[in-house]
Amino acid sequence: MGKIFGTNGVRGVINESFTVDMVLDISRAVGTILGPGKIAIARDSRMGGEMFMSAAISGLLSTGCSVIDIGPAPTPTLQFNTPILDCVGGVVITASHNPPEFNGIKVMGASGIEVTREVESQIEDIYFSKKFKVATWESIGSVSKDDLALRRYIDAIKSHVNIKSLKKRNLTVVVDGATSVGSLVTPILMRELGCKVISINSQMDGMFPGRNPEPIPENIKDLSQAVVSVGADLGLAHDGDADRTTFVDETGRILWGDQSFAILARFVLGQKPGSTLVTPVSSGRLIEDIVANAGAKIDWTEVGSVVVSHRVVEINAEFGGEENGGVFYPDHQAVRDGAMTAAQIVDIMTLEDQKLSELVASLPQYFNTKTKVHVPAEKKTALLKSLIELTKDEETITLDGVKIIYDEGWILMRPSGTEPLWRCFAEAKTQEGADSLRDKGISLIEAAVDKT
Ligand code: MG
Repeated sequence: MGKIFGTNGVRGVINESFTVDMVLDISRAVGTILGPGKIAIARDSRMGGEMFMSAAISGLLSTGCSVIDIGPAPTPTLQFNTPILDCVGGVVITASHNPPEFNGIKVMGASGIEVTREVESQIEDIYFSKKFKVATWESIGSVSKDDLALRRYIDAIKSHVNIKSLKKRNLTVVVDGATSVGSLVTPILMRELGCKVISINSQMDGMFPGRNPEPIPENIKDLSQAVVSVGADLGLAHDGDADRTTFVDETGRILWGDQSFAILARFVLGQKPGSTLVTPVSSGRLIEDIVANAGAKIDWTEVGSVVVSHRVVEINAEFGGEENGGVFYPDHQAVRDGAMTAAQIVDIMTLEDQKLSELVASLPQYFNTKTKVHVPAEKKTALLKSLIELTKDEETITLDGVKIIYDEGWILMRPSGTEPLWRCFAEAKTQEGADSLRDKGISLIEAAVDKT
């Protein structure tokens, strides 16, 4: 059977590789597998959002599922509300951090966590065989709206932080909402946590006029400048569906995802000695050090937020995170949550009475870098074998791609789930060391392409 799901749902270029017909049939398949029952639905600000959402609602209703429309909302808002609204699943129309011309769909189970690879396969089987459930005329589903989903989500986040101390601290924060759904939550949340809020890119605009939705340094220079020019205590930038947050300290320096993850991990694990942290092989020695110092342990997984979420639940872990800044705090919910992450960072700054730059400076120092290597689409999967062969004399972990361990650092090379490219990550004790390991990784990938 064919495959339509990537690492996080189905994505494609609007009206080209991702169409209304596809969304209609995906939703009919989702309703067939997850139904009968209620399905929660949301979308981000992307172009075609209303068009795809209408198609998804039609598809779900035709299978006899009812739909609760929570409107434009972050993915974690829908995820948080899915079990509360007693839904059997959830659907979000989003392409997360992809460029503006993309849209997509993420599918959640009853817990609010994205469905497992196994359930995705079942949905794909129905999608390709077109054996959809078709409800009889008297059992077609109905649509209702839930206007309280955002409020419920914001209140839940507030219950996990110390509002009294935050209000006393009175931080100034610049919020970059990526002209998408993060803008509907985080400026309000931060204000209710006693922060003075300055917003940029905080209108809903699927043309993404302010910046590309991926919150990486090259895309959030405006935020960095804004933090410095208004003298803010920090800045924060979401991706397109606000399940991730990238932070900027008061000097305008953009934090690596693993730095914010490490600050949060140190705090949470410090409060819960002997706990377990779940993280993919893409995480490095910074996290290993934090976990070791806290007397906690690491549970390694393949790369992918869905794998981490399910693993966190499976082993009842206290915390989870990814090097890209995705953070899982299961006391709130076991999925990446950009607004929760933002609230926790300001909470820690307040409780520890530290500036964000001071929290970063107190972390063990490693330097990392990452890059993308474009590879011919037809060789993308096959070159793994050549790469393993090329690195057979090194110490490696091949749980997901190839991670080579050296005394001075490591390189991780793995294929992208969605695009014709391999990603190469490197970490070392110096920036030059990391850069040189990265270049070594690029050469290895290119050599593997030639041999494939
Ligand atoms: Mg996202």
